[in-house]
Order: sequence, then structure tokens, then C-alpha cells
Amino acid sequence: MRAIVTCECCGHRQVMARPIRRPESFYVICHGCEGVLRVEVTSADLRTARTATGGRAPQAAGGVGTASS
Ligand SMILES: [Zn+2]
Repeated sequence: MRAIVTCECCGHRQVMARPIRRPESFYVICHGCEGVLRVEVTSADLRTARTATGGRAPQAAGGVGTASS
């Protein structure tokens, strides 16, 4: 997933491109004010990211079929 971290001090938003596959917390340095931000990724966050990026419309199921006659 790609996490977007907003700095509490200066409001700078930075995109973390690192792969996150399980709940964890880590630190990043803000590019705006060079403050240290603690990032916490929960399993709920991961689930949300997965449905957002792997997103195929569920209603597509059944829409495509083979003509069996
Ligand atoms: Zn900052």
C-alpha cells in the first residue's frame, strides 16, 4: 500500500512508497520541517488500501459469460 502521511507540525503531505504488508509503525522525516513523524499502520488501514487499489467492481461478476447453447 501507499501511505500518505500528513505532518502535524507544518501540514506537509508525504507519500510513502514503501511496501507495507502487515500492521507496523515506523518513523519518517518530514520533508517540510524535518520533524520526525510516527506512522502507524493498522490492519484496518491495510484492508482499506487493498480494496481501494485492487478494486474491481464486484458487480462485474456474472456480467461476462460464455454463450452456452
Ligand atoms: Zn512538517
